[in-house]
Amino acid sequence: MIDISNVNKWYGNFQVLTDCTTSVKKGEVVVVCGPSGSGKSTLIKCVNMLEPFQKGTITVDGISVGDKGTDLPKLRSRVGMVFQHFELFPHLTITDNLTLAQIKVLGRSKDEAMAKGLGLLDRVGLKAHAHKFPGQLSGGQQQRVAIARALSMDPICMLFDEPTSALDPEMINEVLDVMVELAQEGMTMMCVTHEMGFARKVADRVIFMDKGHIVEDCTKDDFFGTP
Ligand code: ADP
Ligand code: ADP
Repeated sequence: MIDISNVNKWYGNFQVLTDCTTSVKKGEVVVVCGPSGSGKSTLIKCVNMLEPFQKGTITVDGISVGDKGTDLPKLRSRVGMVFQHFELFPHLTITDNLTLAQIKVLGRSKDEAMAKGLGLLDRVGLKAHAHKFPGQLSGGQQQRVAIARALSMDPICMLFDEPTSALDPEMINEVLDVMVELAQEGMTMMCVTHEMGFARKVADRVIFMDKGHIVEDCTKDDFFGTP
């Protein structure tokens, strides 16, 4: 599903990624961990072209990423992304946050987008908050809306970039629970996270990065030692 081959990236003279190679199969959950500044966030941002890379190749479900010819709207609608900061549109209601891209990018009717959005909002336990603005929700609730918004595009895979690290401790589990459920339903996922409990529970593989290199890429059992 996601194939990353010999990816190298520089910020000026600073090499942030060196010969990164890995792949994520359909239905696989891969957790990316490693010290701060090791390039985890940059690597997953290369997958949906939020960051350009200078050398190597990435394909997502056969779509080649990083070429001049990449169909960016198509790529971005297939690859759902959830960030550390929720990045909901603050001036739009939760409902409008959930329907905007469905209408503008996928061309769905307002009713269709609304039905889909409200269904997903229900699924993340927030149906009663549809009419509110993001600022009226807690961080954990906003992050669940962000996940619902990504899912509203019917992505074939999901990228998570430290989705719980900006949250108060008591809100972390409500977000992880949604992610665990997604993983158990067979969503293909690549997750940058420090939540090793999540990794133990649902990861098929764990990638460990250090100084821009993938220094380990192994099954969960190999990573954690015992099954
Ligand atoms: P991680 O997600 O593992 O914490 P990042 O991918 O965010 O690491 O960053 C890797 C390294 O690249 C860090 O040293 C960071 O300071 C640097 N970096 C990230 N973005 C930029 C940028 N836009 N320009 C220059 N350096 C950057
Ligand atoms: P994240 O890990 O979620 O990407 P960061 O705080 O690492 O968040 O980065 C936030 C923004 O700042 C990103 O757009 C990143 O590219 C940029 N950035 C990070 N480190 C540097 C740096 N050393 N020099 C310039 N820009 C940077």
